[in-house]
Amino acid sequence: MLLDKSKIIAGPCSAESQEQLRAVIIELKELGITNMRCGIWKPRSRPGSFEGVGEEGLKWIKELSAEFDINIFIEVINKEQAELALSYDIENYWLGARTTTNPFLVQEISKALNNKSKTVLVKNPIAPDLNLWLGAIERVEKFNPQTKIIALHRGFSTFNLGSSRNNPLWEIAFQLKEKKESIEIYCDPSHIAGDSRQIQFFSQMALDLGLTGLFIEVHPDPVNALSDADQQLNFLQFKDLLAGLSIKKKPQDLTLDELKILRSEIEKIDKSIIQKLEERLNLSRKIGKVKEDNDLQIFSYPRYKAQIKNYCDEFDLDSNLIEQYYRLVHSFSVKVQSENK
Ligand code: PEP
Ligand code: MN
Repeated sequence: MLLDKSKIIAGPCSAESQEQLRAVIIELKELGITNMRCGIWKPRSRPGSFEGVGEEGLKWIKELSAEFDINIFIEVINKEQAELALSYDIENYWLGARTTTNPFLVQEISKALNNKSKTVLVKNPIAPDLNLWLGAIERVEKFNPQTKIIALHRGFSTFNLGSSRNNPLWEIAFQLKEKKESIEIYCDPSHIAGDSRQIQFFSQMALDLGLTGLFIEVHPDPVNALSDADQQLNFLQFKDLLAGLSIKKKPQDLTLDELKILRSEIEKIDKSIIQKLEERLNLSRKIGKVKEDNDLQIFSYPRYKAQIKNYCDEFDLDSNLIEQYYRLVHSFSVKVQSENK
């Protein structure tokens, strides 16, 4: 199945000129896409980089919206920007990751939008904090009951990033969906990847995980872009991306015998692992008792480090998995020993 084009929002990281925006709109329309993004105020982590064209960009957008049938999304970072943008009849917005981090800003922007916007995309906050994301969505909702709100997953700043610019931590998006079933979640693969060569991978992954739309940076000439040059796609790359993406069937819709058999094997393994975890915790309690009787500290860092290394050396399994498993079960052992249950 092909991705529904109405679920794609694409465009430059920053609006740089009206000609640049017009070129992007023409390309999008040719591809059947009617939603464009462009930042006109750019919140940059460090000073000295391009911070957007500002109000001038609102004039360009107003004119282009009259010329073309296109929904143009911009980011607003405070209430003054929201009020100014509304005065130019802008209807579609997103709240960026740095804004969602701050409930005061979200509240004042939500109030300023005053139920006058068509769509607001709420990016996840920079930190992996589900309640901040959820809270931002609730605040926008509270003051804008007529507005369509979409959650936008752009990855998180974490200490261990792996190879991407922002860590996707997909589980947080799943938990958001659990807490708020009605919300649609789109993915921003550009800010997760930070690298144009990885956009295809993260886009397909998002769709395979059940996210319903994509928010992608596309620029006529990415190499010379004034912001985020490394992660923007040129038109040809964007066309190729769209041609390569597919929506797969949901596994729960299938009744494949082969899948049923393999799943029942997996369930058996899960049950035996859970049973073993119980045995492990019981042993851990006994160890806790010995430590207490002998006035020993609970946690031995050298042993903890050595065990992770031993298991990684002994087993030919992804060492990340071994390490995460060990850290998790070990933290439970420490908990039961310190509670002395
Ligand atoms: C953006 O979309 O251009 C942007 C600034 O993103 P984020 O808030 O995700 O960093
Ligand atoms: Mn960007």
